Amino acid sequence: TEVLISIHEARLHYAVGGAFAAMRGKSTVVKAVDGVTFDIRRSESVGLLGESGCGKTSMGRLLLKLEDTTDGTIHFDGEELTKIQRKRLKEFRTRAQLIFQNPFDAVNPRFTIRQTLSEPLENAGIKRSEREARIIAALELVRLPEPAQFLDRYPHQLSGGQLQRVVMARALILQPEFVVADEPVSMLDVSVRAGVLNVFRDVRDRLGLTAIYISHDLALVRYVCERTIVMYLGRIMEDGPTEDIVHQPLHPYTKALVAAVPVPNPDQSHDPLPIGRGAPDPRNPPSGCVFRDRCPQAFERCAAEVPQPRPVGTRSVACHLF
Ligand code: SF4
Repeated sequence: TEVLISIHEARLHYAVGGAFAAMRGKSTVVKAVDGVTFDIRRSESVGLLGESGCGKTSMGRLLLKLEDTTDGTIHFDGEELTKIQRKRLKEFRTRAQLIFQNPFDAVNPRFTIRQTLSEPLENAGIKRSEREARIIAALELVRLPEPAQFLDRYPHQLSGGQLQRVVMARALILQPEFVVADEPVSMLDVSVRAGVLNVFRDVRDRLGLTAIYISHDLALVRYVCERTIVMYLGRIMEDGPTEDIVHQPLHPYTKALVAAVPVPNPDQSHDPLPIGRGAPDPRNPPSGCVFRDRCPQAFERCAAEVPQPRPVGTRSVACHLF
């Protein structure tokens, strides 16, 4: 299938410490995304997996042009995102949508559900007379039962699961081709997560959406995505079919993530975090391989040289062992 998005050596570097620190030459550069290359094909579902601070959310923001790359390129349907013309930008904003992590942060608490869903339609110039039908259709798409009864309610009158469906409906109402879902169920009660994920999968398949699913949870990514990209400190460690990654992880970091997924059999003992606690500090990454200080298999070359992604069977792995 055709490539929809092509990311080449993308970087997002920014200075932290504020203007005062910068004046004194004391600011630090955070490399949130640091030389990332991959393609996303049309209708593909890709999981971006990693701990907090690994750059997955920054990567999502770059793909939606909520942030511009400081270096490298991202092409969406052939168009480079940093060079996109102002009038084409509006079109891009309807073609690519974000589904937020916390539904209660994603909506205006003073807007009814009708107002919440009218806003994007209004911005896109959809006639007032057509809006109500589009709103109902979008709420039916995300399987909110009896949608009409929700229209005059306010966000606080909905449960988390219901509101996340509204947020999804808002992201889908302009019929985008591409969605980035950033930990869309992490703030929801465990009991309603599966329902929301099923809706997400179902809608994606029915509309043929291209989707990026951002999560720290391998089990969720496995449930939703055919392909997984493992990130660590702004770089891609491993990229390949999800089932291959789950059954036979190759990169030492992926191995640790797979080992950390709780096993159904409680008799089987498991070290929950074989690589030690604490997410890495993106302000101070080690030289060479960024995973070096937590890697049980690190050797001399790992400190001296940044491992480049290499094809290994069905996937790509960035580690000197391959
Ligand atoms: Fe470990 Fe070295 Fe591979 Fe990095 S390159 S993951 S430190 S073995």
